[in-house]
Parts: sequence; C-alpha cells; structure tokens
Amino acid sequence: MRQLTLEQFINRIPKADIHYHLLGGVRLETMVDLAEKYQHPLSLNEAKSYYRAYQHQTGSSKGGIAALSLLYQLMQQPEDYYRVLLEVAEDAQACGVKYIETFWNPSDTDLTYEVVNQALVAGIEAAFEQWGIVIRLIPSINREKSPEVALAMVEAMIRSPHPYVLGIGIDYKEHHAPVEHFWKAYQLAQKHGYKLTAHCSEFGLHWRNVESAIELLQVDRIDHGYSIIDNAQLTQKYAALAIPFTVVPSNTYFLNQWPNYQEWCANHPIITMAKAGLTIVPCTDDWHIHNTNTTNCYRTMVEDFGFDVLSLKTFMINSVKASWMDEEQKNLCIQSWSEAFDDAYQQLDEQILLDQAHHIHYRSPLV
Ligand SMILES: [Zn+2]
Repeated sequence: MRQLTLEQFINRIPKADIHYHLLGGVRLETMVDLAEKYQHPLSLNEAKSYYRAYQHQTGSSKGGIAALSLLYQLMQQPEDYYRVLLEVAEDAQACGVKYIETFWNPSDTDLTYEVVNQALVAGIEAAFEQWGIVIRLIPSINREKSPEVALAMVEAMIRSPHPYVLGIGIDYKEHHAPVEHFWKAYQLAQKHGYKLTAHCSEFGLHWRNVESAIELLQVDRIDHGYSIIDNAQLTQKYAALAIPFTVVPSNTYFLNQWPNYQEWCANHPIITMAKAGLTIVPCTDDWHIHNTNTTNCYRTMVEDFGFDVLSLKTFMINSVKASWMDEEQKNLCIQSWSEAFDDAYQQLDEQILLDQAHHIHYRSPLV
C-alpha cells in the first residue's frame, strides 16, 4: 500500500545531522529546570523568548547565540551535559536520525574540557545502548573570544584525546572574526589528525570568508557558506572539488531577510547552491531553539524549496560522505540507508510524486 505521507516517509529514512549545536537542542523545560536548579532568575516567559516556537507569545525574541550563551551559564555540573546529550539523542532518534556530529564550545563553560568531555562521552555511550544512535563530538571555537583561547581549546583536546572527538569547528558572530584569525588553532588541530570545519559567510557576510577557510585553513567542509554563490568561479571550483557545505533551511538571517514566505522560498541561496552542483547537506543547526528537527529540515527542502523526493536520497548520501565516520562505516551506512530509502519510497503516497513533476532534481558530484 502506497500510503505514507511525506512526513512519515522522511521520518522513516535514516538520517545524519552533521551541523548540530548541542545546546541548540536543549528543551524548553530543561532550560527552566536548570535555571531552578541553580537559582538563576528566569521566568517561563523569559525562557520562551529564546525559543522560536514561543516567541510570538513573549513580545521579545532572542537569537540562537544568546540562548547558547545563557545555557552555558546554566549548565554548571557535568551531569547537566550528560542529561542534555541524552535528551538530544532521544529527540533525534524519534525523527529517524541515526548519526550526529555535534558542536559544543569548551571556552564557554567554567568546567574543564576534560570534565565536560567525559560527561558527554558517558552520555554518548548510554544513548547508543538505549537507542542505537551514534553521536560524535566537535569542540568548537567561540570566535568572539581571542585566537589564544582557541589555541588553548585545541591544546586541551590534544592532552586528552578520545576517539569520539573527531575535529574542530568555529561558530558565533563572524562579523569581526574571520576564520583566518584562528589559523594557529586550525593548523595545530590538523597536525594532530583532527578534521576541520568552519562557520563561514553566514549572516550575508562576504564569500572571501569561505575562500579563506578552504584555501588557507584547508577545512574539510564548510558550515553555511551561503555567500559563495556571489562568486561564480569559486562556486564552480568548490562544486568540482565536492567540498561539502552543511546548509540550514531554518537559518534566521534569511528568514529575517525575506519575511514574506514566497520570497523566502524563491530566493533562498540553498536552492542556488544546489543548482550550481555544490555538495550540500541539509542540517538543523539549533534544533529546539529554532523549532525544527531533521525531518522538518528535509521536508522544507521538498515542500518549500521545491526539490523532488529523490533528491532527498542524494542529500542523505551526502550527509554520510561529508561526515567524519571512517570509510568502512560510511560504506555500510550508504548501503543500508539507501535500501531503507528505497523501501520507504515504494510506500510513499503516489499523489506526492505526481505533484512533483516540476520539482528540482538535485545532482551531487559525490553521488
Ligand atoms: Zn551552526
């Protein structure tokens, strides 16, 4: 029987999310609980002002970065990280997510790197045992702090290596902190075998930030990177090199840029990036804070941005290839996930496919 709705279909296909900020996945009730635990003054209404789902009720709204900064203050003990990791895993597996690479910012907590890492590793093991979901870690540089703080983060990673810690990233406000300021931290991480990614050219910032990350820092992938489409030559080069771009349909900057839904659908750079043949990987960024989840992220690619359902298979395979699993794991995942996709596809309501005659079919150099 072909009766699956698009949402049921997407929920059923195995998915990886490789641009996921751990604290963006903190549930509202957990934020409130943590505030109570440490007697931090935070009314329910204030807590809601950090969450997109409730912002229309609160009369004020705060961005994802503000939410993450507050949460680092509220998470004062290792057990808080353990709890959040498990809740993130529970919510993700309910959406059919099998694999996450998650960012966290060691410089933003008063706890040591070792202590938090240990709590997260324990959470990862418990989550795998309970749900079979695999989670890996990407300590991330807060670029609003100094390059020396970033270097200290990498030094701590080198002092306490763990097989679940795969690489480094950089996030927070990019305006006065282009990625090249942090070259020493990146070079040191690379020398010690860590993979590299970087948030670049988000917030409408210039494409040269992507160029610096790829050409100078030799990153393995880019987070966001939307402005790259302003440079046709580089877009073509990075498409040919199959450099992965983790892109976020729920990105705040573009929702603010085009508050009109039709304009947002028509103009979103993700569509142009995909049409140009870049290797794009749809991701959630800040799950609960931005009121999204991985199923919703894939649904947006079809219903709002107009890709056909088979494009989702390519996005799914891209997410595995762009991940930092080892090659053997990647091959196993691609095989079994593709089978699961094909099986679910056979059960998708046929009307959905008939309605898609004019949708965009995405092709990737990786697949
Ligand atoms: Zn991000």
